[in-house]
Amino acid sequence: MELACLDLEGVLIPEIWIAFAEETGIEELKATTRDIPDYDVLMKQRLRILDEHGLTLPQIQDTISRLSPLEGAADFINWLRERFQVVILSDTFYEFAQPLMRQLGFPTLLCHKLEVDENGRITDYTLRQRDPKRQSVRAFQLLNYRVIAAGDSYNDTTMLKQAEAGILFHAPDNVIAEFPQFPAVHTFAELKQEFLKASNRNLSL
Ligand SMILES: [Mg+2]
Repeated sequence: MELACLDLEGVLIPEIWIAFAEETGIEELKATTRDIPDYDVLMKQRLRILDEHGLTLPQIQDTISRLSPLEGAADFINWLRERFQVVILSDTFYEFAQPLMRQLGFPTLLCHKLEVDENGRITDYTLRQRDPKRQSVRAFQLLNYRVIAAGDSYNDTTMLKQAEAGILFHAPDNVIAEFPQFPAVHTFAELKQEFLKASNRNLSL
């Protein structure tokens, strides 16, 4: 039995915080897990910046409502779901992901949750667990699934290592250089090929 685990931001949808940084013109908000591998450090920095500028969840959701999945992502997900059970493992929050998941046909999503006060201020966040992507893959393996995983960034690398097969997709050069054990591809056509190669079944395009 095989399961495909996919990262969300940078793989299927644009980076939400970068889109919001561009709309607001706040350079500091452009940092992602590509720049700051420790997600807690990164999130604390983001919430501090939001507070300094008086920015709230509805303003971020307004930006997200104008985003679309990356070109070819919806077709890719449909292709993948015909061949594998698919689970999205993301470090985003349910409060952000919803409108974009609609455009992808609501695949299963495991991610985190925000704490928001009555004025829409993001006061805190609840991470589902530590090292959630790797722990999810471990749990699926305990259910006798063989996991093929793909992601673009540092926060995906423990998931890629835990999986029976890991693939870097849209990864920046520094991540590719640091993790040469994973094949690195940049188009959905190549990613399909990598999933077919990694599968132990006789699948075709
Ligand atoms: Mg990502």
